[in-house]
Amino acid sequence: MTDCIFCKIVQGEIPADVVYEDEHCLAFRDIQPKAPIHLLVIPRKHVVNLDDLKDSDRDLISHMMLTIPRIARQQGLTEGYRTVTNNGKGGGQEVFHLHFHILGGGKLHAL
Ligand code: 5GP
Ligand code: ZN
Repeated sequence: MTDCIFCKIVQGEIPADVVYEDEHCLAFRDIQPKAPIHLLVIPRKHVVNLDDLKDSDRDLISHMMLTIPRIARQQGLTEGYRTVTNNGKGGGQEVFHLHFHILGGGKLHAL
């Protein structure tokens, strides 16, 4: 996707504070953090959101789910953290490349 900000971060065309990367995904700091630690975990592959996942993405999404706790641990979030994924405009999604927010490092509001 040529006009996707997160694809541009994957390609290194836009700078980001990357804290983790592997062959399937990467994590970087949110540019407008809503918690002391606010990361975004994205697949390298362009997927719009959870609605866009195919059966063939089973291994990818499984890998991401297993990697999120590792990233959180690496970032020192030993007391816990929140994951959020906004899906579609009605869900508050602003960047249409799948991402999991990891929020922590302070008291979070109850949902
Ligand atoms: P959404 O509302 O789509 O779930 O969240 C998109 C998130 O991406 C927002 O928290 C926003 O601050 C973050 N964001 C948008 N553009 C950039 C960018 O260019 N770099 C980084 N690091 N974060 C971004
Ligand atoms: Zn993209």
